[in-house]
Amino acid sequence: MGGRAGGQTDRMAETNWAGNHTYRGRIERVRSVEHLQEVVAAAPRVRALGSRHSFTDLTDITDTDDGVLVSLVDLPTTVEVDAANRTARVTGHAAYGDVATRLQASGWALGNLASLPHISVAGAVATGTHGSGARNGSLATAVVSLDIVGPEGELRTVSRGDADFEGSVVALGAFGVVAAVTLEIEPTYDVRQDVYTGLSWEALADDIDTVTSSASSVSLFTRWADSGIEQVWLKSRIGETPAQLRGARVATSTLHMLEGGAVESVTQQGGVPGAWLDRLPHFRMEFTPSRGEELQSEYLLPRELALTAVERLRGLHDRLAPVLLVSELRAVAADRHWLSSSYGRDVVGVHFTWVRDPARVYAVLPAVEDALLPLGARPHWGKCFVAGVRELEPLYPRMADFRALRDRVDPDRVFGNAFLDRAIG
Ligand SMILES: Cc1cc2nc3c(=O)[nH]c(=O)nc-3n(C[C@H](O)[C@H](O)[C@H](O)COP(=O)(O)OP(=O)(O)OC[C@H]3O[C@@H](n4cnc5c(N)ncnc54)[C@H](O)[C@@H]3O)c2cc1C
Repeated sequence: MGGRAGGQTDRMAETNWAGNHTYRGRIERVRSVEHLQEVVAAAPRVRALGSRHSFTDLTDITDTDDGVLVSLVDLPTTVEVDAANRTARVTGHAAYGDVATRLQASGWALGNLASLPHISVAGAVATGTHGSGARNGSLATAVVSLDIVGPEGELRTVSRGDADFEGSVVALGAFGVVAAVTLEIEPTYDVRQDVYTGLSWEALADDIDTVTSSASSVSLFTRWADSGIEQVWLKSRIGETPAQLRGARVATSTLHMLEGGAVESVTQQGGVPGAWLDRLPHFRMEFTPSRGEELQSEYLLPRELALTAVERLRGLHDRLAPVLLVSELRAVAADRHWLSSSYGRDVVGVHFTWVRDPARVYAVLPAVEDALLPLGARPHWGKCFVAGVRELEPLYPRMADFRALRDRVDPDRVFGNAFLDRAIG
């Protein structure tokens, strides 16, 4: 999720959305897929630049390398619906919000969205980005196939059922530049969003599974104080009735999850039905403030350990409070993507929106990881974390398979960088 969220602007042309990372690589805006193939074939090191919403050097080349960051923003966004197969083939750099608008215009929908509609499809699935919902998988679970430009500039398609597929979707850009993604779609539907305040820790502890499955998408916002969960955002498909939350009160006005956040940036609340694309994200597509004023981290841990994580983080309240804007808890269903934070198990994601002060944020991350990693928590690949390959390896049963696939697909590490060296080895 994000606070003062929105898309990128010209002012931040050479930085990520949060402005905490300045890209080192030369940015090359390709004009066609053929041009992309030529650029990749000619460059010694390449990384794909998406919509720049990740928070680290993940997207960049290593500073000692002579390499290129390829941007696909000049390619036209296309959304080709295949009604018979219920799929849509979309350009990799397309923002989910643009894809959603085009699908809606032709009567189609995606099953889920993340909190922000401005993020790119290829960049989101590459990092295991997710929305919320006890029965909803991450956005990668909607992927049917990927068209990827590999290290020699060759274009190949990896599809569900292929041996490499489950290693190739949540792949951190390590196998090439995704030119197109084919996604599952379904007929359009309406959603209502209801916001509650004041859910006590006791009510959560009594039945966390009922709370996290009380609507098709549930977000719990807290700052870990004794007062408990400050806001609960329930997104329910019309026809489903959101469950009652014991002791919580219906919000009487539109709320932002951050104190002082601009309420005009958030999607319609108050139980008013509306199209899926206007309710599933927390933030409106048309709201585009200048830049991020936050950093983010997130750790996804087995759902049955969520209350243990809550207790540990409440114990860290005094350390977190000076740098924390808000935390968000969301359930995500298990999937089979090797590097997914939900690989093989249902999880709860514990998200942190921090002040944009890298030194102070990175100073508290070791304490957060000491509390959560022993519970099996996997850091979100696109957000801030300090764990390295030694800590991450035991958390990903298919990590060795991912490395073997990389050795085969990209033996010269054309798509390698310092982040991958630290995190994957
Ligand atoms: C305000 C805000 C809200 C967010 N909300 C959520 C949320 O609700 N849920 C959640 O899980 N995460 C969330 N995130 C995190 C975000 O979804 C991830 O960081 C995601 O990777 C962003 O994609 P991007 O294209 O913007 O990132 P980028 O930094 O541009 O790219 C991220 C990774 O994807 C790769 N990549 C990008 N494009 C391609 C391509 N065409 N081919 C191959 N690889 C590619 C890059 O090389 C890099 O490895 C949020 C981030 C922000 C800033």
